[in-house]
Amino acid sequence: MRNLESRELLVATHNAGKLAEIRALLAPHGVSVIGADERNLDEPCETETTFLGNARIKAHAAAKATGLPALADDSGIEIDALDGAPGVYTANWAETEHGRDFTRAMTRAHDELVARGAPEPWTARFRCTLVLAWPDGHDEVFPGKVEGRVVWPTRGMHGHGYDPMFVPKGHDLTFAEMNADEKNRISHRADALNRFLKGCFG
Ligand code: IMP
Repeated sequence: MRNLESRELLVATHNAGKLAEIRALLAPHGVSVIGADERNLDEPCETETTFLGNARIKAHAAAKATGLPALADDSGIEIDALDGAPGVYTANWAETEHGRDFTRAMTRAHDELVARGAPEPWTARFRCTLVLAWPDGHDEVFPGKVEGRVVWPTRGMHGHGYDPMFVPKGHDLTFAEMNADEKNRISHRADALNRFLKGCFG
């Protein structure tokens, strides 16, 4: 595993929710984060059909454009009764002509569960694949996940994306009802970032 020399890291995401979580999770380890917007990076098309494939596209594009090691996150929610959907298409389910609408995406997930007559609990998991890419083309991969279930109606105002419909295993609150610290202790992103910290700074 290749070590990271610098404590300054380019994070190849334009998603403010993800960036805030990554920044908060890395700050206690003395790692400061530069977001893709601060470097005016383009958002490459996510043309692959796996989290790993899309994370690699984003990480390598950012490393090549800046000459710096770049970390990218590709993530999503898999709902078992929907055969793992939306999965790699989690963000796509929120797309509208006016931007992303996660109320609409969560409503679609719930409507499809009802249409299939899927019995509760609706088991699900969030997955996160982190890829750290260097400008010379090398990369390292760090997967993370959190098991749980989706619930309806949605609950809570914190977080981002599908947080209001996801209850992690062993908890009663949705991610959107938890404060940032609580979510960051158990999330799929925290799981992947802990592997990254052990792997690249260990
Ligand atoms: P992508 O990785 O940019 O393709 O998008 C992943 C999508 O998954 C996001 O737009 C969110 O909808 C969803 N997602 C990923 N992580 C989380 C999370 O921690 N909470 C809620 N939704 C998430």
